Amino acid sequence: MTRISDGDLTPRFATRAVHAGQVPEPLAGAVMTPIYQTSTYVQQGLGKHKGYEYARTSNPTRQALERNIAALEGGLHGFAFSSGLAALDAVIKLLSAGDHVVSGENVYGGSHRQMTHIWARLGLTFTFVDGGDTAAVAAAVTPKTKMIYAETPTNPMMRLCDLAATGEIARQAGALFVVDNTFATPFFQQPLQYGADIVLHSTTKYLNGHSDMIGGLLVTSRDDLAERLAFIQNGSGAVPGPFDCWLALRGAKTLALRMRQHDASGRRIAEWLGTKPRVKRVYYPGLPSHPQHDLARRQMKGFGGMISIELGDAAFARHFVERTKIFALAESLGGVESLIGHPASMTHASVPREMRERMGLTDSLVRLSVGIEDVEDLMADLEQALADD
Ligand SMILES: *Cc1c(COP(=O)(O)O)cnc(C)c1O
Repeated sequence: MTRISDGDLTPRFATRAVHAGQVPEPLAGAVMTPIYQTSTYVQQGLGKHKGYEYARTSNPTRQALERNIAALEGGLHGFAFSSGLAALDAVIKLLSAGDHVVSGENVYGGSHRQMTHIWARLGLTFTFVDGGDTAAVAAAVTPKTKMIYAETPTNPMMRLCDLAATGEIARQAGALFVVDNTFATPFFQQPLQYGADIVLHSTTKYLNGHSDMIGGLLVTSRDDLAERLAFIQNGSGAVPGPFDCWLALRGAKTLALRMRQHDASGRRIAEWLGTKPRVKRVYYPGLPSHPQHDLARRQMKGFGGMISIELGDAAFARHFVERTKIFALAESLGGVESLIGHPASMTHASVPREMRERMGLTDSLVRLSVGIEDVEDLMADLEQALADD
């Protein structure tokens, strides 16, 4: 666990992204936080040390990352993990057997799989509802509900959860409100401001932004939760290595720049796709045609580079994803390079078919992660892949 210091709260986002959590290294004054590739730390005497005893418990490179992301989310405490799913694992360990969780139904496929195939076996119960339907969330709460878990926008349906309203439901139920903010990033949306108790990230995606590491992160402003999460982080031990922390820290420095570009290109491509006859529907919260566009404008400062499109024909969707040349066919998202995916057979294959269909996640749905390449090249690539020949 790392608590941010006052100096980490410089006023503006891009300045925080570059500086929060980092101080010149004391030995040589290195401007960049070193990779402290060590498992242990020498002690000056019994019980006398510099605050570091063993690297599962704390590591200076990891702490710099934890402070940096906590400061970006406007939170006080950060906890880094070896993956986004390890961060989820730690969050769920705040609960006990018999507790009930209300979760958005269209959460990341791996999050759904962890809940239903691992935690349900160990005595937790889950109800999955449309997180965009606040009344359905409220109706699913029982006296045993200890956590409301939301993703917004969701992957890949781009459905939004009303953060303020859902936070209020959780508060009244005495349940924790946990928000996976991987898609929007703190640059566009800061759930702690809307009553979330904990924000979760797969740093693998936009925060690192360069598709070269796997990691997760939790942020909270509550001291009581921070103490328990620190115990779980150390006690369960799914911590990231210092090199991966260093990569994510380096990536986060350019988050503001990258997100501006993802957003500008995302808006332009989403609008343009809407004019293509082969594209039956565009799912993008920045479009006025999105059913929750007003909510998007209320709780988000931008809409980013994630777009899903309904092509209405599964065979054509397969053909399309295999024909793009710049958009690489791959799982994952949020990197500088553009990716294209087929959620039904890739990221969401572990979600039961009838649940996929209920959400509109059809076999003809294609997901785009718009990178920071020249937008004209990206549009030309999609244009040639949409051609009928
Ligand atoms: C990728 C992802 C995760 C899981 O993170 P990993 O780092 O792959 O374990 C969780 N939530 C969302 C929204 C994701 O996109």
